[in-house]
Amino acid sequence: MSTVRCRIAPSPSGFLHLGTAKMALFNHLFARKMGGTFILRLEDTDAARTEEEFVSAMCEGFKWLGIDWDEGPAFGDEPEKGDYGPYRQSQRRDLHVREGLRLVEEGKAYKCFLTREEIAAEREAARRENRSFHSKWRDASPDEVAAMGDAPHVVRFRVPEGATVIEDLVQGTVRTENREIDDFVILKPNGDPIFHLAVVVDDGMMKITHVIRGDDHLTNAFRHVMLFNALGYDLPRFAHLPMVLDEAGKKYSKRMRGANVLDWRDDGYLPQALINYVALLGWTPEEENRELFTPEELQAHFTPDRWGKSAARFDLKKFNWLNGQHIRMLSVEELLDLVTPILEKAGFDLGGRSRPWLLQLAAMCREKLHTLNDIVAQTDFFFQDITEYEEKPVKKHWRKDDAAERMARLMAAMESVNDWTHDGIKAAYAKLAEETGEGLGKLVHPTRLALTGKSVGPGLFELAELLGKEECLKRMRAGLEYVKSL
Ligand code: GLU
Repeated sequence: MSTVRCRIAPSPSGFLHLGTAKMALFNHLFARKMGGTFILRLEDTDAARTEEEFVSAMCEGFKWLGIDWDEGPAFGDEPEKGDYGPYRQSQRRDLHVREGLRLVEEGKAYKCFLTREEIAAEREAARRENRSFHSKWRDASPDEVAAMGDAPHVVRFRVPEGATVIEDLVQGTVRTENREIDDFVILKPNGDPIFHLAVVVDDGMMKITHVIRGDDHLTNAFRHVMLFNALGYDLPRFAHLPMVLDEAGKKYSKRMRGANVLDWRDDGYLPQALINYVALLGWTPEEENRELFTPEELQAHFTPDRWGKSAARFDLKKFNWLNGQHIRMLSVEELLDLVTPILEKAGFDLGGRSRPWLLQLAAMCREKLHTLNDIVAQTDFFFQDITEYEEKPVKKHWRKDDAAERMARLMAAMESVNDWTHDGIKAAYAKLAEETGEGLGKLVHPTRLALTGKSVGPGLFELAELLGKEECLKRMRAGLEYVKSL
């Protein structure tokens, strides 16, 4: 195993957001590609917002996507795993405080006793003079500090002089003058660590080698680099990735459908398709124009030199296409297992159908589905009587003077079929087309309308075979009656 160690550190404050899933995926794929370790660490310090059900919902999202962690907290029946635990930030408070106080001892941080009013006045002065915030306690003598005893205070980091430069794997070289950064708080008045300290202590102690996260953290990274150096930890490489944007080009809002990764599961998308699509939102494959990747292929090809820094919009049309491609890569058995609960939920009675019949049904639909849920509209006519016909095709195919005659001819052709299979039915239709000199389309569309009530759906001869001769004739008869009534 290589020394690469990377992590996802989500705050479990709701569900697994698509943007977090992207960051997790990039970390996960990178770790897998490098033979490294992928760590899940829950940043659950915001106790009021963290509820166990949120943790489970988020972990369920990871599990569904196949983003498995090598080290991380307990989940369900799985115990905590890894040598660098605990993996819940809320259980690491003592470590954060200890390291924060170590910085005070080493003179790299200091206790600051400024009152609220003093802070406001200093902020105002700093603003007027166009400089960063100073605390007078930065240069206080040990005696002055000792004289304050246990008075309320925070601990501030002593921002060093000079500049901080980050060679970001995605953003390139980014730099800031340290004087632009205030001596920021690392321990709050109640002694709690703030995010910057906690994240750096955790990354440092967990020996994280690559911090791969959203570019909303890029400005925080300067503070983090300073803290890494001050604490004496090995500095990781940073990669700040663009966020996922919605179709309108805005940050993917929490409230939008699809922000929750599990919405896609409910809407009939495959996890391997979502992984493939999300990977493409920020990574350009080496093979030009190639878009379709299995999870294994992604792991093999995924290198940071091809990560991009411009944010990509979520394009549902493209994702639908990609999902369809992944559906076609499933075996018929796999597809049937996935669609069975969907068909049952739609209220279709599968009880009376044999396994071979159901497999044939799945095989027939496999080529046409964009989402698994599409199977309902593609197959409902097998499970329920046709109570209405779509208006448009009725107008096109049945509101013709010769429509009834044609329907009668089609019925006769069907009657004549002894070998009621796709090929047998097709042969009868081909023969009729030849006899009447009509194109096959003229025969197929009115038949489809009678058998399914619709103008589009699975291949006609396949669905007719599955419906059975008797049922097809019954529906043709009903269609003919309808034509006559027009
Ligand atoms: N908890 C932070 C977030 O969810 C992650 C911070 C990090 O990755 O360093 O945005």
